[in-house]
Amino acid sequence: MKCSQCHKVDTKVIESRDVADGEAIRRRRACLNCEHRFTTYERVERPQLIVVKNDGTRELFSREKLLAGLYRASEKTKITGLQLESLVANVEQEIYACTEQEVTTAKIGDLVMEELANLDEVAYVRFASVYRRFKDIAGFEKELLQIRKRKAEPVKSV
Ligand SMILES: [Zn+2]
Repeated sequence: MKCSQCHKVDTKVIESRDVADGEAIRRRRACLNCEHRFTTYERVERPQLIVVKNDGTRELFSREKLLAGLYRASEKTKITGLQLESLVANVEQEIYACTEQEVTTAKIGDLVMEELANLDEVAYVRFASVYRRFKDIAGFEKELLQIRKRKAEPVKSV
């Protein structure tokens, strides 16, 4: 594995652990040349999923895009990058359990929100506001109200 900084190939693994229930392996590596440290993930290769968007157009499923959206939603929360990696891996696993071809944006959103609800409510509400805005505003407000009731304190503005 090439160093992401100096591009020399002499790197060593300094830590290796299973993530996402053994669906992936996360490795911390150190470059023997410049001592730069970086992380790699190893996972099972699967067929490329097609995402059907709300307007009926299709695009390739991108875990990077999903992760980027989740990072935005969980800014200034206590959610770690590792938790988000694990969340995405769980969601992927659930999608592949149903299909190996096409999945709708709404279905992905629902799966993500189910997982996110267990992690952090602020991130959940932010993510919900992006995914459900056009679909069902009344339903979203109802959800928001339920979360607020459960917490018995106001949720930070989104
Ligand atoms: Zn290096």
